[in-house]
Amino acid sequence: MEKRVYNLSAGPAILPEEVLLEAQKEFFSYKGSGMSVMEMSHRGKIYDQIHQEAEADLRSLLNIGDNYSVLFLQGGATLQFSMVPMNILKGKADYILTGAWAKKAAKEAKKIGSVNIAGSTESENFNRLPRQDELKLDSEASYVHFTSNNTIFGTQYRTEPEVGNIPLVCDTSSDMLHKKFDVNKYALIYAGAQKNMGPSGCTLVIVRKDMLERSDDSLHTYLNYKTHAESNSLYNTPPTFSIYIMGLVYKWLLKNGGLDWIYKVNSEKAGMLYDFIDGSDGFYKSAVAVKEDRSLMNVTFSTPNEDLDKKFIAESAVKGFSGLKGHRSVGGLRASIYNAFPQKGVEDLVEFMKDFKAKN
Ligand code: PMP
Repeated sequence: MEKRVYNLSAGPAILPEEVLLEAQKEFFSYKGSGMSVMEMSHRGKIYDQIHQEAEADLRSLLNIGDNYSVLFLQGGATLQFSMVPMNILKGKADYILTGAWAKKAAKEAKKIGSVNIAGSTESENFNRLPRQDELKLDSEASYVHFTSNNTIFGTQYRTEPEVGNIPLVCDTSSDMLHKKFDVNKYALIYAGAQKNMGPSGCTLVIVRKDMLERSDDSLHTYLNYKTHAESNSLYNTPPTFSIYIMGLVYKWLLKNGGLDWIYKVNSEKAGMLYDFIDGSDGFYKSAVAVKEDRSLMNVTFSTPNEDLDKKFIAESAVKGFSGLKGHRSVGGLRASIYNAFPQKGVEDLVEFMKDFKAKN
């Protein structure tokens, strides 16, 4: 078998090897059907089972109650920046700005209604999250929107911001399923698949059913959540292959011990990397100013200067580490260690970093 690299890309990102191999096995002819999942009718029995199981397994992983609809949509998290306000913004909404994606979400909401920036750390280049005591929430807001993990800046909420009775909406694109959380705290959750769940092409939306009452019939059919909730995400052709892989990823999680298991693994991986960075006598520096805000998914850091960052990227690539370049708006380095990134990969990365420090 061809050798794989340690893929530290921010997304699309690494998937579990077991899942890739299973998909490879089934690729040409799915379970004796004589066709690939890609070639099947989305109205057929075989695909229907894949679709139902993916939803059921996700519901089981997150303990999602019947009072929520689970939708498999297209258009990326980016379309949700628009669909969320189109469907549920009535008058005004609160947005917490913690990075570039949150800003993009707020930008679309402003086209629908009035947006109150309930908190922002933009003046500090988003190097931490706004503290609870810094939030200025509007009790009459339609909802509060926040981004649980900031892929570019490497910050992540440990727990949800407290918002009282205001419905909570979250973009969980880059940390969905990295640990157990209480779905009941949310009115709506969305996430692009291509980090912790599968290939790009599918966006997951979990929406509390009472929120669907806000969707106006004048909305374009595809853009109305009700359309998808009422047709079980089969109003039009769904991204069948993405949903199939997502289903395999859900089964992989369930088989290995679910979200408590993956959270333990994720905590250990990130802990190892941050401990090494903190103990490197200042050679490596975390890009996040507040330790509690550091992401378990995207570890942002730098070496003493830009030239060394470049050298680090070039030399790490030769050693089989791919995707360590930081986002262009932050610079430096970023190790995205999503669910599927192996513990051994982090150990080897730390070894490489030790060696690089000694030589430079
Ligand atoms: N939100 C977050 C937190 C992201 O990391 C990204 C990038 N994948 C997006 C939104 C945009 O997602 P998409 O490319 O699926 O539209």
